[in-house]
Amino acid sequence: MPPPVFRFAPSPNGFLHLGHARSALLNFDLAQRTGGRMLLRIEDIDTTRCRPEYEQAIYDDLAWLGIAWEQPVRRQSEHLPLYREAVERLMRDGLIYPAFETRAEIARVVAEKEKSASWPRDPDGAPLYPGTGRHLSADERERKIAAGAPYALRLDMAEAMARIGPRSWIEEGQGPDGETGDVPARPEQWGDVILARKDTPTSYHLSVVIDDALQGVTHVVRGQDLFRATDVHRLLQELLGLPQPVYRHHALVLDEAGQKLSKSTRSTALRDLRAGGMAPDQVRRLVGIASG
Ligand code: GLU
Repeated sequence: MPPPVFRFAPSPNGFLHLGHARSALLNFDLAQRTGGRMLLRIEDIDTTRCRPEYEQAIYDDLAWLGIAWEQPVRRQSEHLPLYREAVERLMRDGLIYPAFETRAEIARVVAEKEKSASWPRDPDGAPLYPGTGRHLSADERERKIAAGAPYALRLDMAEAMARIGPRSWIEEGQGPDGETGDVPARPEQWGDVILARKDTPTSYHLSVVIDDALQGVTHVVRGQDLFRATDVHRLLQELLGLPQPVYRHHALVLDEAGQKLSKSTRSTALRDLRAGGMAPDQVRRLVGIASG
């Protein structure tokens, strides 16, 4: 049996905090305990928010925690043509269409609809895309693209689901409502998700499933905030013919007010805790992961 493969996949758009420490340490400890491999992947496709100093801080903070990972580190920004290829393939398969509305226009359409009835929201609380762009003719799409209009490339969720049928994933951890074991995927809750944009050839959902498959990741261990994203990941794995890893979502580290930590809160940033004299073992205790 080949060894299990774990990965920690942060985005360099801020400094790592205690929540990241929990994820990274869990992955590393599981790899150690099972004779598995530990990978680090830098998810830096959002060039407007990612910065080299944040990436360097990731390496410094993880090394300080005593975590070791394989080289080379995969940086998503170096593989954009690969993601673009997948988008083109889904487009050829008739599963992706360009949608031209701005966020404000979508909000206006949704507000109008909400005058008469409630409008569905995705698990992150955003209103589902009303699907207007799905009905544009090929001519209209081409005319808008030729005129230089910005657009998002959206997955035709109904069509994708009709082709793939119901799927599930193996959850070795727990979802926010205690979901565990064989969890049914419900990608329809997300509506026509964005998989790429005019100027960005990919999205979190698309690159994460492509990279997990390409890197042979067998176990995805990450925070519960990404539990429902797995709905979309399972669907994309089937559409692209990729293998499915096992998932383990862990509870988030919360602040005193019971809120999810944010990359902008300095008090829980690993580099600030380190500068304040905290030891890596204390971090382990704080995030509930015993040493060794
Ligand atoms: N890059 C994502 C984040 O920083 C995590 C991706 C994943 O673990 O699937 O939240």
